[in-house]
Amino acid sequence: MNYLLSEEQKMVEIMVEKFAREEIAPQARANQAQEIFPAEIIKKAGALGLMGIAYPAEYGGSGMDYISYMLAIEQISRYCASTGVIISAHSSLCIDPIYRFGSEEQKQKYLPSLCKGEKIGCFALTEPAAGSDAGGLKTVAVLANDHWVLNGVKNFISNACEAEVAVIMALTEPAQKTRGISAFIVEKGTPGFSIGKKEHKLGIGACSTAELIFEDCAIPKANLLGEINKGFKIAMITLDGGRLGIASQALGIARAALEDACKYAKEREQFNQPIANFQAIQWMIADMCTEYEAAWLLTYRASLLKDKGVNYSKEAAMAKLKASETASFCANKAMQIHGGYGYTKEFDVERYLRDAKITEIYEGTSEIMRAIIAGACLK
Ligand SMILES: Cc1cc2nc3c(=O)[nH]c(=O)nc-3n(C[C@H](O)[C@H](O)[C@H](O)COP(=O)(O)OP(=O)(O)OC[C@H]3O[C@@H](n4cnc5c(N)ncnc54)[C@H](O)[C@@H]3O)c2cc1C
Repeated sequence: MNYLLSEEQKMVEIMVEKFAREEIAPQARANQAQEIFPAEIIKKAGALGLMGIAYPAEYGGSGMDYISYMLAIEQISRYCASTGVIISAHSSLCIDPIYRFGSEEQKQKYLPSLCKGEKIGCFALTEPAAGSDAGGLKTVAVLANDHWVLNGVKNFISNACEAEVAVIMALTEPAQKTRGISAFIVEKGTPGFSIGKKEHKLGIGACSTAELIFEDCAIPKANLLGEINKGFKIAMITLDGGRLGIASQALGIARAALEDACKYAKEREQFNQPIANFQAIQWMIADMCTEYEAAWLLTYRASLLKDKGVNYSKEAAMAKLKASETASFCANKAMQIHGGYGYTKEFDVERYLRDAKITEIYEGTSEIMRAIIAGACLK
């Protein structure tokens, strides 16, 4: 599908593939197993301009488009899905709302260090009782003199342990429900802001997932992000972009699974011939390749629409739904093609299968993606 890319986009893809293969891949298995945040890799990614790809140079970004971002996250996730989501959550969920809805002062203050990867960002919407029904959140922000005082608990927050800047959603007018939610920027080290329980997960082990706890946490009045009571809209718009990041992560996993399956099928011999000679194996590979390319095209289309500045909520949901289910499908087939060896830690396909599953859950489950798509069709 190279013919759809500009020369600049092709160069980004080649550069990121080389970086991911040479620098990220050698550490991927160990970092995942030991739940180690790849700090050095993130520093290098920052130096290469990968922590703020789609944001203007005046804010420390690389000034590229969202298709370049999609290609970069895919290539990184092809070698390490944990690193892919660290960068995706940081960029799509923290930088993006500050860039899109922040005041000029907030942009000048937060974006340069985030875009250069000197600081890591996170986004906190989910709470113990508010997952798919994110509008049911309970965290409150009360204005007291010149400060907002936050109280509540967020859970399942990606990059929680490393993030120095967090975009938080809290109720400012509880009676108004989703129309009473506002967005805030909270800095690490603010008194009353702490990290709670860290989750130990099936996959993406190198990306931390933890609670954020707010106990009478006072932040400056100026840290309101966007308009008061417009936070739910900010969160939904942010998640549209985030879903492209997760779709790209899923594409990387699917592609890695397909490549490993092809390689193994040509090498492994049974009945005195490579297993690639068997039609059963060929059909699995054909299905994997077809699903991957369909998912890639949907993700490309949604990224293109984002670059053009038109509404792409339905297309982002379709891309995320298709790419995440394709990642699980391809990882599952790749394991089948590897037989018993695929079930061991000697091969990467077991990691792909574990990493793939989460793409069907976070930033909106597949059921919620279907609800968004159906809602757009039926309106
Ligand atoms: C590793 C990880 C990282 C995450 N990172 C972040 C982050 O950085 N920031 C953040 O804010 N959140 C984050 N999340 C939260 C994530 O977005 C939620 O887990 C997800 O939206 C689902 O919410 P839930 O887990 O509460 O499941 P629930 O909402 O309880 O859903 C349970 C099941 O019910 C189904 N369901 C729910 N409602 C409906 C419906 N209306 N129709 C049909 N089916 C429905 C769901 O699809 C699912 O199958 C993360 C989660 C994980 C596991």
